[in-house]
Amino acid sequence: MRTAIIGGGIAGLAAAFELEGARQKGAAAEYTLFEARARLGGCLASEIVGGAVLERGPDSFLSEKPAAEALCRELGLADELTPSSDANRKTYIVVRNRLIPFPDGLMFLVPTKLIPTALTRLFSLPTKLRMGLELLIPPRPSGQDESVAALVERHFGRETVDRLADPLLSGIYGGDAVQLSARAVLPRLVEMESQYGSLTRGMLAAHRKMRASRPANVKNSSPSAPRSIFTALRGGMQQLVDAVAARIDPASVHLSTTVSSLEKTGAGWQVTAAGKTELYDAVILATPAWAAAELLNPVDAALGAELSAIPYSSSITINLIYDEARLGRLPDGFGFLVPAVEGRVMLACTFVHRKFLGRAPRGKAVLRAFLGGMRNEALLTASDKALVTTVRRELSEILGESVVGCMVEPVYAQVSRWPRAMAQYAVGHLERKERIMAHVAALPGLRLAGNAYDGIGIPDCIRLGRQAAKELLASQRA
Ligand SMILES: Cc1cc2nc3c(=O)[nH]c(=O)nc-3n(C[C@H](O)[C@H](O)[C@H](O)COP(=O)(O)OP(=O)(O)OC[C@H]3O[C@@H](n4cnc5c(N)ncnc54)[C@H](O)[C@@H]3O)c2cc1C
Repeated sequence: MRTAIIGGGIAGLAAAFELEGARQKGAAAEYTLFEARARLGGCLASEIVGGAVLERGPDSFLSEKPAAEALCRELGLADELTPSSDANRKTYIVVRNRLIPFPDGLMFLVPTKLIPTALTRLFSLPTKLRMGLELLIPPRPSGQDESVAALVERHFGRETVDRLADPLLSGIYGGDAVQLSARAVLPRLVEMESQYGSLTRGMLAAHRKMRASRPANVKNSSPSAPRSIFTALRGGMQQLVDAVAARIDPASVHLSTTVSSLEKTGAGWQVTAAGKTELYDAVILATPAWAAAELLNPVDAALGAELSAIPYSSSITINLIYDEARLGRLPDGFGFLVPAVEGRVMLACTFVHRKFLGRAPRGKAVLRAFLGGMRNEALLTASDKALVTTVRRELSEILGESVVGCMVEPVYAQVSRWPRAMAQYAVGHLERKERIMAHVAALPGLRLAGNAYDGIGIPDCIRLGRQAAKELLASQRA
């Protein structure tokens, strides 16, 4: 079987890794990977500058989703896995230029501890009262999909959307709580609502169940070290890209080669790139959905229309390296999120050297600002200088002149733009995904992978890439 993999981001690389593994075990699994850019990795890109690990794109993956860690281990990167230093984990929300810590006991947007919720300065008294009354909400049969904002507002009020749901989702998806689908993004909460009504009661019940299911020796002993929330690689996410690239056959990789058209014929798939057309038995499209739509439109216009209807947001990351001695004292913790209602350009800022120890050399601090999102696409065209100036001004307004005052020059600033990189799971996403998969099932030899379908994070993209390859290998054997 000859497979064309289109897109050399982590999803396409994971597919290539799987096919290479099968080929080495003797399967007839030839493949060619086409990547439009001059480098592999897509959104994953890191650089080491003066001993500091700077991530242009993702800095880590969620530890609880196994696919990324498993791939790292298979690639011999086990010793490079670095847990987030959760002992320092404290995240703030900016409210009128002040940093308010997340109250203790918040689980997936749901308050579960009375005293921290009552005492936090994040919410007003009416919101706190509403959070108490939420316990009385009766079960509600799950109906039509709705936005995350609608679900959260129904339970905890508008202020919780503005100060919690919206900044958290913009920090993860560059997204907008008013557009994102509750069923696709927060399926656990939707289930809890139909079973318990109150999300707080649902969350407490889930927590109790989890504790009860722990083996007795674990319950009785002092709690063993929990898994870190995030896992990174010591030398940056680029290590993962480089390790996969080292495993796959270099002759099968075509960089700076955009696939310009796809055609389905009786004999298979005609793939045209760099003016050359070749026949393949199968195609794994691991591009963003909008790029897949352009290629599939002539093959199946309805499929193309569904794919192009998946919205994408753009983002910008700005890494600033500072001399720690010149910086004032940063607040404890990993960083802060900025709600859209604050009217700022920055969506979030990570204190990189605190989140992952060993990321910055002694005496240096790294701050990473995250900008953009659905509401601020125009920022992509601003100059690097203008973006860095804006971020430095906002940092000094939020953290205080005494910390990152305008006079404190970063020793290095790096700006990275990610146009239309993050798929947004808008209301109705799950139904759209089903329609897309039904069209794909009618086109033998075609598979889709990437962040547009079943999870936006690195582990999900790896899982889908490998699954696409496995399914094609299985169909060949059948
Ligand atoms: C700034 C930022 C921060 C993030 N932070 C995190 C994080 O901390 N943790 C996490 O888990 N996830 C994070 N994500 C999300 C995650 O990184 C992405 O969802 C994931 O890397 C997407 O991988 P992919 O392979 O699906 O797509 P991409 O990485 O977008 O790769 C697709 C590739 O296809 C290529 N391509 C497109 N069209 C063609 C064509 N016609 N021919 C050939 N090649 C083509 C593109 O050039 C690109 O390289 C972040 C994303 C961004 C942008």
